[in-house]
Order: sequence, then structure tokens, then C-alpha cells
Amino acid sequence: MIDLDNITLTYPDGTSRITAVDDVSLRVAAGTVVGLTGPSGSGKSSLLAVASTLIRPDRGTVTIDGIDATNLDLSERAELRRTKVGLVFQQSNLLGSLTAYEQLLVMNELTAQHARRAARAATRERARHLLDTVGLAADAEKRPAQLSGGERQRVNIARALMHEPAVLIVDEPTSALDQERGGQIVDLLLRLTAQHSTATLLVTHDRRILPRLTKTHVMVDGHLTAEGSMADQMRG
Ligand code: ADP
Ligand code: ADP
Repeated sequence: MIDLDNITLTYPDGTSRITAVDDVSLRVAAGTVVGLTGPSGSGKSSLLAVASTLIRPDRGTVTIDGIDATNLDLSERAELRRTKVGLVFQQSNLLGSLTAYEQLLVMNELTAQHARRAARAATRERARHLLDTVGLAADAEKRPAQLSGGERQRVNIARALMHEPAVLIVDEPTSALDQERGGQIVDLLLRLTAQHSTATLLVTHDRRILPRLTKTHVMVDGHLTAEGSMADQMRG
């Protein structure tokens, strides 16, 4: 799970500092998808960066799958991300020259042939299995330019799951997609989160998907203002 306790994050701003996240506590249990929404500039990206251990907060504690990441140094946090955290960003960071299948085999820029030789049999099998799970078994040999936006996002999600992360951090997964494709991506994230028991934290501006998530937090000016299931709020 993801456990954020009393997180405060500031950035330098001229001679003073600007508070992007102000004493925020948030928990994401295994097998659930928790949404984070709110206006631009409210601190969502900053909180995601803290939850994914990319940025260390000024104050507060970050616990990832039972490991206290608060006082880990840069290389220890990198190791924690390699073993525990899957990242899916808004902008596709797929490599143009690799097929969907090869994207899952490489974590850094290797040639396609090298990737195939280097990957162990278990890794290749997992890549095939994950492509099948996200509905891209038939598209495994296609390169990003031959895939639709939704299909590229599926490759991103499959790739984020290659190392069996306990935590999945997802930034605006549906922003570039129409309603139907966006809905399919949410379905996929809900299913994979349950199947793999990941703790999934998702930032979105897409109001249509909020009722489907386990819970949604609304962030304004660095604070969480509302909590609870959006579906409950709408029904109530
Ligand atoms: P969004 O609502 O999509 O997050 P923003 O404009 O708030 O858009 O932020 C876009 C990116 O720019 C983020 O990565 C954020 O960290 C960065 N950013 C936002 N404000 C500043 C700033 N004042 N100085 C430097 N980087 C910033
Ligand atoms: P959101 O993701 O909700 O748009 P951000 O986390 O990007 O919000 O930004 C929160 C606040 O922190 C904003 O006032 C933004 O301008 C500021 N900010 C974000 N990133 C930086 C940065 N790298 N340096 C300075 N200020 C930043």
C-alpha cells in the first residue's frame, strides 16, 4: 500500500518558498484505485512525485509497501522504484523504434535485438502474458506509430506492471482519449489493480471516471478538501 502521512512540500520561490503540498495524509490500500483531482496548480503532480519517491517532502513520512522511504537517499529510492513502483505518465514515453513486445523487455535504451537476446525466458513469457492481459496479443509486433493512443496507453500500463510493482502511480491516463477509449483504460486499471493487488494512485481531470474509482480526493491549494466515494456523494 501507499501511506502518506502529514506530507508538506515546498519549492524555492525567489527569496521565500511556495507551499505546493500542505500537511496532506492519504492512504491507498492494496487492490484499490484512489483518484486525486482538483484545479491546475493545486499540488496533484507534486503529491504524485512524493508518492512515487521521485521527490522527498520537506516534512512527513512516505511508506511504500511497508518500507519507510522517507529517509532513503537517491540511489536507495531508485532501487525502491525499480522493485516496488510502476509509473504510467500522461505523455507516452515509448521508444519509437521498438515493437509493443520489445517495449516491455527494455527499461532503458537498448537495440531491439539486444533486448530480445538479453531477456530471460521468464521475462519474455511475462511480457507476452501482460500484452495478452491488456488486449494487445495480436499487436505485439507493432511499433508506437502503428498503435492508437489507447493502445499506446495499454502498452504503458503493461510495461509498468512488468516488475510486479506493489504500487502503481498513474498520471492523467485518459486525457488524450475519447470517452469510450478512456472508459476502457479505466476498466483495465480497475481489473489489473484487483488482479495484481496493487495500490493504485491516479491523478485525473476526467470527471467521468471519478465515480468508478474506489475513492476520490479533491485537492485545492495544497490541501485535500473532500474525501469519500464520489459515487456515494452523487447518490447521496
Ligand atoms: P498540470 O495541471 O497539467 O499539472 P501545470 O502547469 O500545473 O499543469 O504543471 C505542469 C508542469 O510544470 C508540472 O510538471 C509542474 O511540476 C511544473 N511546474 C508548474 N509550475 C511550476 C513553476 N512555478 N516552476 C517550475 N515548474 C513548474
Ligand atoms: P497540479 O499538478 O495540481 O497542477 P503542481 O503540483 O504542478 O499542481 O503545482 C503545485 C504548485 O507548486 C503550483 O503553485 C506550481 O506553480 C508549484 N510548482 C510545481 N512544480 C514546481 C517547481 N518545480 N518549482 C517551483 N514551483 C513549482
